[in-house]
Amino acid sequence: MSTTSQATPPAGVDATYPFIGHHRGHRTAVILAAVVPFALTILAIALLWGRHVTWLDLGLLVGLQALATLGITLGYHRMTAHGAFKAPAPVRAVLLAMAAMSIEGGPASWAATHRRHHALSDKPGDPHSPLDGLWHSHFGWLAKGNLVHSGPGHERLMRDPVVRFFEKTQLAWVVASIVLPGLVGLAVVGTWGAFWQALLWGGVVRVFLVHHITWSINSICHTVGTRPYESPDTARNNALFGVLAFGEGWHNNHHAFPDSAYLGHRWYQVDLGKYVLLMLRPLRLVHDLRIPTKQQQAARLRKKPTKAPRGRRGIAA
Ligand SMILES: [Zn+2]
Ligand SMILES: [Zn+2]
Repeated sequence: MSTTSQATPPAGVDATYPFIGHHRGHRTAVILAAVVPFALTILAIALLWGRHVTWLDLGLLVGLQALATLGITLGYHRMTAHGAFKAPAPVRAVLLAMAAMSIEGGPASWAATHRRHHALSDKPGDPHSPLDGLWHSHFGWLAKGNLVHSGPGHERLMRDPVVRFFEKTQLAWVVASIVLPGLVGLAVVGTWGAFWQALLWGGVVRVFLVHHITWSINSICHTVGTRPYESPDTARNNALFGVLAFGEGWHNNHHAFPDSAYLGHRWYQVDLGKYVLLMLRPLRLVHDLRIPTKQQQAARLRKKPTKAPRGRRGIAA
């Protein structure tokens, strides 16, 4: 069925960032991490909405969602995968802890897989090429084991002791991510019913939302949106996911300037990750931000804005 990303990738990148491929333990982990939150979210909405959901549950859902989303965009993506800014070890640890609570794997694996996406975007060997279908780019690639857990690229990332620590303690963060909201419910309300409700909304439903928003960057933001910059791939700017994913939806901007600390390039391109960096920089909690100049941005703009082709047919045309 697939003729693009599953074909033989060019030599070099695939050796630097090899896929783990089919692996029984991995398949079970993916099902647990992705399908269970989906099923329990449906159950939570059907059984509890209007009856057994409190403001505390919703507060935990929204608050922890924000922390996990910020951790993914700043900790895993901009800092670890692209080196778009630097930060002292304690700040790196806080950002990676927030990201680890999203249950998307360790920082080195996440970043190495993502670097392979940039190196081979829409080409054979791309972990989640949209040319292999929307479902493949959203979730199918995970079930197929298109993940990088080894190789020279992964080893380079593991040289950072903070990254190494979070890579090796993934399971503890998975448990903490689910159980901690429940403990907050128990502490505040004092009943086991409150524990399970807070665990469900602040833990499971929140992980479900974070997963699908992250995966939508690989699927929807390579399918629906605008392409102001020249780039040899299908990456698009999508305002909805610009907001929901704290800047990540400006994906055409990102593919044009992968190492930029800012994903929103215009005043109206909402980028919460950028606003947080702007607050942290004067406090010297982040430094050495890489930002393209206005001239560099202007040089990459498309000469004539044309409607981009969509999907397999458009690319082949
Ligand atoms: Zn992309
Ligand atoms: Zn990236």
